[in-house]
Amino acid sequence: MPNPKRRHSRGRRDRRRATQALTHKQYVRCSNCGATIKPHHACQACGHYRGRQVDVGASA
Ligand SMILES: [Zn+2]
Repeated sequence: MPNPKRRHSRGRRDRRRATQALTHKQYVRCSNCGATIKPHHACQACGHYRGRQVDVGASA
């Protein structure tokens, strides 16, 4: 199994996490129920995607 030879320093770890904090979290509104959902994903609340019911498991 490949293993890291050395632990990353605190500075290196924090620098990595600093760039993650800058990443903009993108969300869109569901066109059916108005819930906040991720783009290109079916709505978790009502199962709609692009105005169509696609997820049978979700409660409509
Ligand atoms: Zn919805």
